[in-house]
Order: sequence, then C-alpha cells, then structure tokens
Amino acid sequence: MRVVLPDNSELELPEGATGLEAARAIGPKLAAEAVLVRTNGRVQDLRLPLQDGEPIQILTTRDKNDPDALAVLRHSSAHLLAEAVRRLYPGVKIAIGPPIENGFYYDFEFPEPISEGDLPRIEGEINNELAEGREWTREEVSADDARQRFLEEGEPYKVELVDTAEGAISLYTQGDFTDLCRGPHLQNSRPIKAVKLTGLAGAYWRGDEKNTQLTRIYGTAFYSKEDLAAYLERIEEAKRRDHRRLGPQLDLFHFTERSPGSPIWHPRGMVLWYELEEIRRRENEKRGYQEIKTPIIYDAETFWTSGHFPKYEDLMFKLEIDEQPWAIKAMNCPGAMLLFGSRLRSYRELPMRLAEPTPLHRNELTGTLHGLLRVRIITQDDAHIFCTEEQIQDEIAAVVDYARYLYGLFDMTASAELSTRPQNKLGTDEQWDRNEAALEEALKLNDIEYTIAEGEGAFYGPKIDLHMEDALGRKWQMGTIQLDSQMPSRFGLTYMGPDNQEHSLYVIHRALYGSFERFIGILIEHYGGAFPFWLAPVQVRVIPVGEDHRAAAADLRERFSEYRVEVDERDETVGKRIRDAELDKIPFVIVYGDKESDQSLAVRKRGGEQATLGLEALRSELARL
Ligand SMILES: [Zn+2]
Ligand SMILES: [Zn+2]
Repeated sequence: MRVVLPDNSELELPEGATGLEAARAIGPKLAAEAVLVRTNGRVQDLRLPLQDGEPIQILTTRDKNDPDALAVLRHSSAHLLAEAVRRLYPGVKIAIGPPIENGFYYDFEFPEPISEGDLPRIEGEINNELAEGREWTREEVSADDARQRFLEEGEPYKVELVDTAEGAISLYTQGDFTDLCRGPHLQNSRPIKAVKLTGLAGAYWRGDEKNTQLTRIYGTAFYSKEDLAAYLERIEEAKRRDHRRLGPQLDLFHFTERSPGSPIWHPRGMVLWYELEEIRRRENEKRGYQEIKTPIIYDAETFWTSGHFPKYEDLMFKLEIDEQPWAIKAMNCPGAMLLFGSRLRSYRELPMRLAEPTPLHRNELTGTLHGLLRVRIITQDDAHIFCTEEQIQDEIAAVVDYARYLYGLFDMTASAELSTRPQNKLGTDEQWDRNEAALEEALKLNDIEYTIAEGEGAFYGPKIDLHMEDALGRKWQMGTIQLDSQMPSRFGLTYMGPDNQEHSLYVIHRALYGSFERFIGILIEHYGGAFPFWLAPVQVRVIPVGEDHRAAAADLRERFSEYRVEVDERDETVGKRIRDAELDKIPFVIVYGDKESDQSLAVRKRGGEQATLGLEALRSELARL
C-alpha cells in the first residue's frame, strides 16, 4: 500500500504498516523522534495501522509547539502522574486523566485528603520515572478481560468506564502501571523534558455533583525546559494581573459572602462601567439602535413561550408571586419580543434594532463562580435586531463591523467561531445555506479570522462567537451574534409586508462586550490595571508637598475639571504618596511644591518617566491622549 507524505511524495509500505513503520521506512532518526501521526486532520497513535492512499504527517519532538504534539506529550505525562500517585498513596483510586489546553490533569480518589504541599513529592516521583525511563505499550483487549483486570486492581472508576465504553478497548502500559485509554501516547518518556504539577482542585466524577468528589491534580509538560520556564513566567504575569486581586487593590469592586457572584462596585469601578456604557450608547445611536428597558421578572408562562423553560430552568432564580410561579430573567429576549409584539408592525419599521443593558441573573453554582468572569448578575450590552430575511446579510455585517470597531478600542484582536447547522435543525437546507453564507460573508468582509464549528449552531439558526486575544496572548470568549427565526414565531410575531400580508421575521440576538462584568474583568487583566489614559478611573493625581501648596493643588484640579483629577493631601511623605500613586497605576502625577508654578510643573508619567511641563503643554498632552 501507499501513503502520501506532506511533500506529496508517495511512500510504499507493506499492507497494514503502522505510523512507526512508515517513520522507519523514511529514516531511523525520524523514527526515534516520532511522537504522533496526523492523517486528514485526525491524530493517530504511532502503533496503529495506516490506510492505503491516505495522506500522513509524522510529528516529531521538533514539533514542540504543535498543539497535537503537545497534547500527546501531556497525556503521556498524565499517565506518569497516575503511576507516581499509585506508588506513593496505596489504596488511591484512579479515574480519568486527559490532556487539556496548556497541560493535563488526572482525577483521583485519595484515601486521605492531600494538599498543595504534597505536590513536590509527587513531582519528584515523576522525575524519578523520567530518570529511569518509561516505554509505552499498547494492547487491545475484550471488555470482559478489561473489567476483570480493573476489578482485581480495585479500580471501580475504570470498571465503570469499561462498562460504558464504545468500540475497541485499549490499554496502555508503562512501568508497572496500566491504564484504560484510547491514546495516543508517546513511544517512550524521552521526549518529556519538563513536567510541573501546577495545582489541585475538587472535581466530581463525571462532572456530576451527585457523584463522589475526586481530587484533580493539574500539571503541564513540555518538550524543553526553556518552554516550561517561559510558560511559568506567563503564569506569574497572569497572577500579577489577576483581576480578583487588582480589583480590590485598585478600589474598583469587591465581593461579599452576603451575595456570592455579585460584585459590589466602588466609585472607581463605576468610572470604568460608565466609560463602557458611554461607548455603548454613543455607538448604538450612531448605528441606528433604539434603547429600551423591560422587566426583570416575568411569570413562568413567558419563559415557556420563549423556550427558556425548561432548557435553562436550573440556571434561573425562581420566585412565587400571588402563589404563581415566576422567575428572574436570565436573558433579555422575552422583553424585546413583547415590545415588538405590542402592536402590528409594518415592513417600513424594519430592521428594528432594540438595545437593552438590563441586568440578568443566573444561578451559577457557587463552586463555579470566578471573580468577574463568572458571576450571578450579568449586565449584557444586549440588542435584538428584528429584520426580514433579505436584511440578514447587511445586519450581520453591520454587527460584525461594530464588534471589530469596539474591540479595536482596547487594542485586542478579534477572531470568531462560526457555528453551523446541527443535526436537529429547523428549516430547510436552502435557508441554512443562505444564512450561514450571510454570517460567513460578514466575517470575510471585516477581515476577521474565523474557524468553523461544524454542527454547533443552535437548532434555530447559525451563530458567531467572538473571541479576543489579550496582551498575554490568552483567548477570551466575548460576545455572540445569533440568528434566530424560532423565538419570533413562538411569540407569534409577524410584520405586514408591502403586499399587505403578514410575514414571519428573524431576530438577531447580539452582545458585543458580552457582559460589562466580564468585560471589565478581562480589561483589568489585559491592561494589568494600568488603564489607558482615557479609561483610567483617576487620570491625574496632584500631590501638594506641604500644607502651603494645598490651595495651588486644588486650583489645578479645578482647572483640569474636564479630567478625573484627584488631590492627595494626606499627611504622608511625598515619597510615600508617589509610591501609592504608582501602586494605583495613575497615568499622571503632579508633585506641587515651592519650585512649581503654571510655567513649570513636575509631572511623573506612569512607568517612571519625569518631565517639567508648563500648564498649557500638559493640557495639550492630555488632550492628545
Ligand atoms: Zn490516557
Ligand atoms: Zn436574546
């Protein structure tokens, strides 16, 4: 048989040859360095047979940044972790251990709880394994044999996995550790140059809170020590930028046990909020949106109509009013539908773009709450665009343009994921062809990089998920743009066409910041708390050297009243007050003493740069920013 290599040359191999045999046929060095085969975008274990005629790519230790090559290295490292834990903690039960983005984990049921302090010892044991060297072997067995094996080893989670497994059952063994696993895995442990255990967390078996809580050990692994060091440095930087730390430190917000998942916004945090709100209002107005405000609570009937019940019922806070079931809205759609349906609509009113930033509530589990990134109160920069089928293309294009503009204000790069028709779709293939093409065209028109998530759309329409990449290269899911014909029809919405007939219509649900809460959390981390001048809650701080200079400082604040200027006249030394201004990440600090005057101001810019500027020069510098 033949396989096709990346340079389009063909390689002649005996029938049923494996990826490893293909590598050997090319050269012994390649075979020694091989970690994985990729065929048609799918990854395959080196030990498995290739198909006649298929294109193959053999990944080696040189592909050290390739996500698939990293995943196989990390998955193999997860198995080393399980081997180490089994040796160190007799009686431990093992669950699952997959690779994940940036690393891997393995879930265990420990006889006694362990703590972060135990991780170095486990890591040491993994390093012993690496020093000794491990080879992986793969075998396929019957379900009965596999069950028997894990029963004897006292591994109930593995037995359960065998019982629910579909297809062939494969086992991977290294040292004296055998795991039920689909693979793929490395040939041996030589490519693993650096392993680091990064943390502990609780995790329910199969993600179900009714099941036993297991201990999840997180780790990561790399093809070189330098790559691990660079990764750990990025993690440290991310910690320094953590919005949960910076938020209270910069006096922006805090959280309270009295209402988990709902931030208490401080005056400085509200400055950020209103800057975003001002952009939202300004751009909405420019782009032909109208502002509305609709109720926060509705009777259950409304959510049955909207389809939020029963799908999102668990996520919604419920109430009883006059002995009837009600709920707090988790999405704004019902209000917009009711508004549109409040009277007969003409085609002349379309497209109708209704914007609404009313707060929503979602009953996220306490354990999943995470600073501003996962909250219970969600204030979306939401809008519902009612339009005809012919208007879809232009409306979506306008929304994507809006998103690109918005993210550009914060120096973040937008990318997108386009989700297409699922199995259980409503509507005809022609409709879906047209609508998916409209969304894709909008992304192309705006030069937004996108990937396609085949079959991931909602049953009523395709959608675009918007992602942004921040200063640390991390991707965040931001807004969504979702096309929908289902909800208008559930609410019985139509419009009168030029033919005096009623027609069905579409709605585009879209939020671009996503939510104010989450967006501010991401901005804090993106900027590391050092907001650009236009966004900074305090833009200028004046430090009068002595009591005699307070009047002059107050006067300066007055004269720069179009900016957010603060005077720090605490009885602290000048040095201490300058350091505090640095910690508060204030863009401009003016120290005012005997030597200062309108002609000569001592101005310290964030980052340490100092200058002596006249008042007018400073004014034009601020205006430029
Ligand atoms: Zn595995
Ligand atoms: Zn909606």
